[in-house]
Amino acid sequence: MSTTNTTRKTLGLETVEPAVTPPPASSAETALAKKPKLRGAKSRKRDIHEGLWAKCTKCSAMIYDKEMEETLKVCSKCQHHFPIGARERIHALVETCSFEEINADMTSVDVLKFTGVAAYTSKLEAYQKETGLKDAVITGIAKLGEHRVALGVMDFAFLGGSMGSVVGEKLTRLIEAGTDKGLPVIIFSTSGGARMYEGMFSLMQMAKTCSALAYHSRQKLPYISVLTNPTFAGVMASYATVGDLILAEPAATIGFAGARVIKDTTQAELPPGFQTAEFLLDHGLIDAIVPRKEMKSRLVAYLDFMNRR
Ligand SMILES: [Zn+2]
Repeated sequence: MSTTNTTRKTLGLETVEPAVTPPPASSAETALAKKPKLRGAKSRKRDIHEGLWAKCTKCSAMIYDKEMEETLKVCSKCQHHFPIGARERIHALVETCSFEEINADMTSVDVLKFTGVAAYTSKLEAYQKETGLKDAVITGIAKLGEHRVALGVMDFAFLGGSMGSVVGEKLTRLIEAGTDKGLPVIIFSTSGGARMYEGMFSLMQMAKTCSALAYHSRQKLPYISVLTNPTFAGVMASYATVGDLILAEPAATIGFAGARVIKDTTQAELPPGFQTAEFLLDHGLIDAIVPRKEMKSRLVAYLDFMNRR
């Protein structure tokens, strides 16, 4: 599938490109749309665009670029939550200038010398250039209302938010910093799962992060996990689901294996709304669905409650 065709299909227009790339409905499409070019092929998408309007992928409303900034990338007509970058989310969440990033320069090494369609190292370079991130998570200490918190925010734009050794190590160090300083931990997850380019090293991060959280928990410190669209596989099976409080953004797709894999394996029809935040709330896996614009005030309220002596 070429980028140009995807664009035409999504927008129904030949030459107009949204300033804010509208996220496609499924996570697979999101990953495709966000993929940086690895082999110097010219992208028409990058050449034409920088228009002022984006089209909502859910209700087809045209949304003004500035409006998208103000609503934190939520469609004002249908409340569809578009993907939001980690830095943008942190900026919207914490008190001004209170975020102190930790382990900002940690980057992955290609231990397995992995080569598929492209070498892992060239993928890393391409995504670092495209996103301005070193890896798929940003961690740091910040102030939320009156509370100092250890905050980790994942970014799906970096290799599908996949959890490699850097994501695992940065989150582990964040949680340990939280334990040392006696701070609550908040992690915003979005991920396709473990990073296949790092094989077993990725899977080890599941145990590592959860062990760090267990020590954090022994100090009677709260951990809030926020699941955003999409959160899957190794991340779901580790730190994302062991929160004292588990929140999710509206309509986020959340699960372990993908719906198609489950359907093919079980040969059973899946219930309507399967693997959505709303379905998981009904079935008790998550505690609350919080719209993005309310996220800050709700987190502050939860922290107020949890910190009451
Ligand atoms: Zn909409």
